[in-house]
Amino acid sequence: MQVYKVGGAVRDRLLGLPVTDVDRVVVGATTEEMLAKGFRPVGADFPVFLHPKTGEEYALARTERKSGRGYGGFTFYASPEVTLEEDLIRRDLTINAMAEDDQLNLTDPYHGQRDLEARILRHVSPAFAEDPLRVLRVARFAARYAGLGFTVADETMDLMRQLSESGELQALTAERSWKEISRALMEDHPQVFIQVLRDCGALKELLPEVEALFGVPQPETHHPEIDTGLHTLSVLEQSAQHKQPLTVRWACLLHDLGKGLTPEDEWPRHIAHEHTGLKLIKAVNERFKVPKDCQELALLAGQYHTHGHRALELKASTLLELLQSFDIYRRPQRFEEFIAACEMDARGRKGLEQRSYPQADYLRGAAKAARAVAVQPLLEQGFKGPELGEALKRERLKALKAYKEAATA
Ligand code: ATP
Ligand code: MG
Repeated sequence: MQVYKVGGAVRDRLLGLPVTDVDRVVVGATTEEMLAKGFRPVGADFPVFLHPKTGEEYALARTERKSGRGYGGFTFYASPEVTLEEDLIRRDLTINAMAEDDQLNLTDPYHGQRDLEARILRHVSPAFAEDPLRVLRVARFAARYAGLGFTVADETMDLMRQLSESGELQALTAERSWKEISRALMEDHPQVFIQVLRDCGALKELLPEVEALFGVPQPETHHPEIDTGLHTLSVLEQSAQHKQPLTVRWACLLHDLGKGLTPEDEWPRHIAHEHTGLKLIKAVNERFKVPKDCQELALLAGQYHTHGHRALELKASTLLELLQSFDIYRRPQRFEEFIAACEMDARGRKGLEQRSYPQADYLRGAAKAARAVAVQPLLEQGFKGPELGEALKRERLKALKAYKEAATA
């Protein structure tokens, strides 16, 4: 039997990038032979094994055939007769369809190296269209390698467009979609992910609420870029440049969804978009079974981002309500992430990327002042139950008034 490294490990070595996870393919072996060598079987669908010592993945070379809708609809065929070329042809992109042996001899039947040099993301064969997830994968690789100058081949875009129009994207499970979306948002250029999805018609299938933002104007005085979709892309871009975590990036993507619902006769203003957007944010969260921390921050940022921007003008009582809504006493991290999302929103405006955002420190200071109010003296004064809560609120309000006066003096 022969063993080859395949996929990302080969691609990233040739690009001179660090290789983290290594996939291997085994040609000319049976399941019985693998087990006899001590490999541990994993994966119910097709023969994948873990190396007895290193724990790395070894998959038997296989072919696959589409037999129904969605990813479940595949039949796999693994046997010692399946060749390396046959295994490689079922892969998504040419740059992912190269193999190398221990001596770094490259097997590259579909010209992945040529496409690497030309910086092109190109599908391997028409079978690309058999798995709609590949639309998201290509957009994700575009987001990852945009900095190196990679773009999607025209003929691959055509296939992605056909897949999007066919409605097949609707057959993807929430889990598979979210895995790609979340990984794509964490790439260096997450805005490219959204842009590529939009260009091939997949955005209106997967995230119609985001698609709807394109072509919607905002007041030029605050938003020199005008278009709400372009603004959203810039906010995402900022979130990556500032190395924000997934929660913040997800909130950035969804914060303005309400603007897509504004009646045209109200343009370019978007009265109460913070509230109209909430049901859309909720729907998107549920569609992809998004993790709870991402869901929560997206909803809170959607509802309160304009509060963040107006932080210095807020009355002490409104400031207190804001802090209470975030439960800053038990969830300090979440409030920090909210502040970050607001800052990314402010920086995601054309020509204003470098402008300082004093609201951030102001909000941090306010949270600190509210947290500094001690419960003990109130307990000593005999407050308990609901009265204790009221007294605490009064003291926090006092503290915030003093903070506001000192900070804006
Ligand atoms: P990463 O650096 O993100 O791990 P990768 O290319 O190694 O990138 P994996 O998801 O680990 O991506 O998959 C390993 C290889 O398996 C890919 O390079 C590709 O050849 C193939 N592959 C994975 N998923 C698909 C798919 N849905 N359709 C076609 N080929 C796929
Ligand atoms: Mg990999």
